[in-house]
Amino acid sequence: MATTKNKDYYGVLGVKKTATADDIRKAFRKAARKYHPDVNPGDKKAEEKFKEISEANDVLSDEKKRKIYDQLGFYSDNIDPAAAEAAARGGYGGAGFGGGRSGGGQEVPFDFGGFDFSDFQGGGRREQASGGGGGFRDIFNQMFSGGRNAASRGPQPGTDLEYQVSVDFWTAVRGGVTRLEIQRQEVCPTCKGKSTTGGNMECPECHGSGQVTQMGGRMKFNIQCPRCGGSGKVQNTCPTCGGDGVTTKTEQLEFRIKPGTRDGQRIRLAGKGNAGTNGGAAGDLYLIIKAGTNPVFARMGDDIYVTVPVTVAEAALGAKIDVPTIDTHEGGGRTQLKIPPGTQTGQKLRLREKGVPSAAQEGKRGDQIVEVKIVVPKVQDERSKEILRELAKLNPEDPREEMFAKA
Ligand SMILES: [Zn+2]
Ligand SMILES: [Zn+2]
Repeated sequence: MATTKNKDYYGVLGVKKTATADDIRKAFRKAARKYHPDVNPGDKKAEEKFKEISEANDVLSDEKKRKIYDQLGFYSDNIDPAAAEAAARGGYGGAGFGGGRSGGGQEVPFDFGGFDFSDFQGGGRREQASGGGGGFRDIFNQMFSGGRNAASRGPQPGTDLEYQVSVDFWTAVRGGVTRLEIQRQEVCPTCKGKSTTGGNMECPECHGSGQVTQMGGRMKFNIQCPRCGGSGKVQNTCPTCGGDGVTTKTEQLEFRIKPGTRDGQRIRLAGKGNAGTNGGAAGDLYLIIKAGTNPVFARMGDDIYVTVPVTVAEAALGAKIDVPTIDTHEGGGRTQLKIPPGTQTGQKLRLREKGVPSAAQEGKRGDQIVEVKIVVPKVQDERSKEILRELAKLNPEDPREEMFAKA
């Protein structure tokens, strides 16, 4: 039969055994302020510590409970104060109850059934089982991680998932459908998230005896095994999910990309994250968009940038030229752009509302910004060279003059 160790409530609160009720109250308040879950959100260790000090305070702040605890070294609501008194005096046969001498001496059975475990459930969160031979708390921990009490853990929400999705330039600009393979936890098809399959197996806590031993001073108390409730059997852990209640599944996902989706944009697919257990809601799936590039069009938000080559004559005299836009790709033809006379290289001209449709605002579009790049003619023939020399003579300007003036 398994034996469990007792807990040091005085040590937990950091007070002496001779502490007054006032000392205990003060020590508890101080520790509670430090470890309260509201002060330490998400901190499992603080949460555990808070439960420990609460449990210690619950017993030590109550005169009757404290007396039983002082007499036995542990406390349970099911202990008759008279039995505790007798145990403390070494009654029930006195010397016969040697510590650890199993089978020898008389044992005082009591029912553990009425114990209130509600304080120990940790908000329905699952607790890790520790190896055997721990304190009272370990029995409780094992209860809540054990198959039989899976339902008492309560619903746990599934966690969120995040995936990066590469989409090509055009899909991001015009929208489309994209596929992605993801791995997510889904509710176990065998146990439906209950973690057990209902079959019985021997209780690992009491090894089938239905009872565990708790030491009270020099006395042994047989208590009903809290893991199996005294039946000696617990429900089988689900073989498919190993008791997790969820299994990992690879899933092909198809989802729509809105026109105007930007590089780095986060898309939330509600309920497509990991499945919850015990009826808990599924988490969300977040997709981080990695938008591809294009050799002609550069994208900045909803604006499109294009560098367009322009001849010397077009730039000097002015011209109407055709430039590609993102609509050209969709068979939307060419868009005419007016190059004003005297346009310089590097100059930027704006085509209003020829940019990317806004994913945020229906009907809105960005602009296309055209940067002019003047292309110098590669003259070969003598006639062209003559004309250029003549042109230079007619316009004897020095483009570096201003530069020297500024230097
Ligand atoms: Zn399962
Ligand atoms: Zn058991």
